[in-house]
Amino acid sequence: MQKPAPNAMPTSSFHQRFIAFCDLNRRQRKLELLRQSDPKTLSRWHDALDSLASCYQPTRERELVTKGLSDPYFPFSKLRKLNVGGFSREPGFADLSEASLARISAEHLLRWVEIFLSIRQDLKNLNDHSEIFTMQLLDPPQESLPEAIWCEYCGECCEIRGGIPEFRANSKLPSLWYVYFRGDGCKYQRFCPFLFEYFATAKFFCAIYEIKPRCCWEFDREECEFLQKDVARERAERPQRIVS
Ligand code: SF4
Ligand code: SF4
Repeated sequence: MQKPAPNAMPTSSFHQRFIAFCDLNRRQRKLELLRQSDPKTLSRWHDALDSLASCYQPTRERELVTKGLSDPYFPFSKLRKLNVGGFSREPGFADLSEASLARISAEHLLRWVEIFLSIRQDLKNLNDHSEIFTMQLLDPPQESLPEAIWCEYCGECCEIRGGIPEFRANSKLPSLWYVYFRGDGCKYQRFCPFLFEYFATAKFFCAIYEIKPRCCWEFDREECEFLQKDVARERAERPQRIVS
């Protein structure tokens, strides 16, 4: 029997499947980073992915979601925090039912997969033709994140809804990159589409670091410290807002 499409999904079913897959994915990727394997975890990972993908009815959508979510650099933790989990905490979504929120989150996830895969393919093409040099996004990883620098790879500075796409590249870049960075690639963008996650570790990196836009280069350590203080203050205030 076929599972219902996102717009007819049982309340919160999508959210439960997404969270279940995120948790299993974290476990599976951790094993991969340790160069270990556990057939039981892998089998549960496949089941959880199938279950989540079955929320999408057209075969093309199911295949896209399966491909995107199988990628070790897909930014699950940001989507979980800011979109799938985050919409319900935003004032603009306060009046929506859980079913509507699930539908919006499911549609947004599909769109994010499309953008992610298109950037992934662009990066491969540009790297193959030596147009730009970026981190080798391979599975298993060939490169680890650099250590012993001040940045903690939290990716909070990249939680932007759009910016001015002044890339620092000499060669021609895909025209859609300008659309994506401006924030026009999809509705409800809550972080930059060039922000990738490293093997579900909640550590994020810029997939186009060497050519990232001017505004990103201007974000330095001092601004980071300022942002971190802001985030800490907001977290401290959050319970009071809920009570009041
Ligand atoms: S907010 Fe600061 S610590 Fe976090 S990724 Fe950005 S620069 Fe790094
Ligand atoms: S281009 Fe890179 S550094 Fe700039 S916001 Fe996007 S992910 Fe962050």
